[in-house]
Amino acid sequence: MKAKLGWGLIGASTIAREWMVDAINAQPDSQVVNIMSSSPVRAQQFAHTHHIARHCTALDEFLADPAIDVVYISTTNELHKEQTLAAAHAGKHVLCEKPLALTLADAKAMDAACAKAGVVLGANHHLRNAVTHRTLRKLIAEGAIGQPLAARVFHAVYLPPHLQGWRINAPQAGGGVILDITVHDVDTLRFVLDANLESVMAMEAQQGMAQHRLGDAVMGVMRFDNGVLAQFHDAFTIQHTGTGMQIHGTEGSLLAEDVMTQQPIGKLYLRRHADVEEIETDPPENLYMRSVRLFNQAVKGEGQPAASAQDGIQSLAGALAVAESAQTGKQVEVQS
Ligand code: NDP
Repeated sequence: MKAKLGWGLIGASTIAREWMVDAINAQPDSQVVNIMSSSPVRAQQFAHTHHIARHCTALDEFLADPAIDVVYISTTNELHKEQTLAAAHAGKHVLCEKPLALTLADAKAMDAACAKAGVVLGANHHLRNAVTHRTLRKLIAEGAIGQPLAARVFHAVYLPPHLQGWRINAPQAGGGVILDITVHDVDTLRFVLDANLESVMAMEAQQGMAQHRLGDAVMGVMRFDNGVLAQFHDAFTIQHTGTGMQIHGTEGSLLAEDVMTQQPIGKLYLRRHADVEEIETDPPENLYMRSVRLFNQAVKGEGQPAASAQDGIQSLAGALAVAESAQTGKQVEVQS
């Protein structure tokens, strides 16, 4: 094994630029060595800005680079499947952005291809890496709120102008609020509750930002296999509120403020009757740095990615069920 795992990026994306390049290069055991973009100009500029040794526009050339051990895919969602299959075929480990794919069958094909090639596949559901969500999961498992009964997720945000592209105008690219935000709610609730999603009902709307048949706001209810009912509100259109999560149990409620975010921030409270106590957490760690750290370890055979391929598949299944419910107006059972 080399001293540093070489990471190659597919997609000169915002998430790569704002978070992932630094997260990869911050590890003592990994470094970005190549960037592939569909645009030669973007590839060259991205490589120059981030001091990446090589850049290219052809997938074959990229995957033939022996310096690449791990491929990070952050293209638009419709491209994740083919790029993952090609990377697996070339023997590269894959950390793929969420949603893993546009259909459950495609996500399962990605998992199967990586398993067959003997490479690790992870989904970059960053919120599992937040110390806040990890503390919630631990407290619930320890019985701090007794039996969990209900949850609420507040994940309505304002999509910043520089991201008002394919998310709001390209159904074929997997745009829309459900595949962008609700998929994170499903994953985070699955993680915090240590439960799987069984059934959903949802209603979607266009509130002035999304076009074509895409939604920019969704509300709904989820039922988990431990009996928890969860309300959720996700949007691209809300400018004047924070995010959060609440979990209510038989012995108390956990209230989490400003936790559905990319930043390592947020506060936790435990409420019993009228008494509210702030909960101390371990020191926060950059969510994306933890994701890369655990992925590097998984590549070395030490543990699992923060969100495994199975997590990516199950969380996608939940989001697709929400989309189907919003379209049909019916309650939808989540496929597995
Ligand atoms: P961007 O719109 O920034 O980038 C998506 C792709 O668009 C890029 O890979 C790039 O591909 C192409 N692109 C970039 N700039 C331009 C341009 N000026 N004109 C035309 N094409 C361009 O998307 P995001 O970074 O916001 O999202 C990428 C992926 O990451 C998605 O799957 C998303 O769901 C996920 N994501 C995950 C987050 C998380 O926290 N886990 C947060 C944000 C996004 P190329 O260079 O190859 O042409």
